[in-house]
Amino acid sequence: MSRIAYVNGRYLPHGEAAVHIEDRGYQFSDGIYEVIALRDGALIDEEPHLVRLERSLGELRIDPPMGRRALAAVLREVARRNRVREGIVYIQVTRGVARRDHAFPAKARPALVVTARRQGPSKPAAATGGVSVISLPDIRWTRCDIKSIALLPNVLAKQQAREAGAFEAWFVDEAGQVTEGSSTNAWIVTDKGELITRDPGNAILNGVTRRTILNLAAERQIRLVERGFTLEEAKAAREAFVTSTTACVMPVLRIDDMPVGDGRVGSLSAALRQAYFDYTADAEEEVEETVEGRV
Ligand code: PMP
Repeated sequence: MSRIAYVNGRYLPHGEAAVHIEDRGYQFSDGIYEVIALRDGALIDEEPHLVRLERSLGELRIDPPMGRRALAAVLREVARRNRVREGIVYIQVTRGVARRDHAFPAKARPALVVTARRQGPSKPAAATGGVSVISLPDIRWTRCDIKSIALLPNVLAKQQAREAGAFEAWFVDEAGQVTEGSSTNAWIVTDKGELITRDPGNAILNGVTRRTILNLAAERQIRLVERGFTLEEAKAAREAFVTSTTACVMPVLRIDDMPVGDGRVGSLSAALRQAYFDYTADAEEEVEETVEGRV
């Protein structure tokens, strides 16, 4: 079955889907994006993703290409046309097509692209094991809270991680504190059993999965603190993990080739991965109930 992409109001075969060479996303990375997971047909945490998309657009003063309800309908239609029930939908909005000039064009219609692709569902920690991370200086800008498509430092960091045989690279700021991963948020569990992740500010993307995990941890009365932690603290931690829409909760077993804790998946990481797994399964059930309700 051929893939279908949504491009500015049209559903096109993936191979023919294209944007203009003077799209400002292509010229200047002048745009933003979102990735939403699909689990058994349900869009996980759809609302916070769409709220963050609107916030990113607002920070860049790009008009939303359409209202939230219309966009939600497009996401479902792209998933449906591609027959994706387990995977992701990708949304990208740029400032649109205009003659190349750094300042905003007087008139440009924001460009919207939506694609969907299949990706396996998340598995329990016992099945996934864990991953390694390397640390790198954070060379990014000071507005990492915006989900910008300008991802060159992230691309270079992820490539360096891959070449080192690692899953992720953790960025470390000038104060020696971990900000986040190249495409994930970073967490540790201290030897006192406290769950730590950096506070949301301009230095990190406030992950939707991050916020869901904070809620799930709070519900389970896990002691948590939102603060920065140093790389040394992370290396001495009992457990570490990363979170994102696609990685869910992924245990980190090695940092810069040093084992974290006893080098095995920690109990809190495994419990939170399971909690997230159950949370997404609940979202699936809600969709089924809604569908049944309509029949
Ligand atoms: N930080 C960065 C830099 C990211 O790119 C991502 C994933 N887009 C995340 C954190 C995790 O965010 P989310 O949980 O919303 O996927």
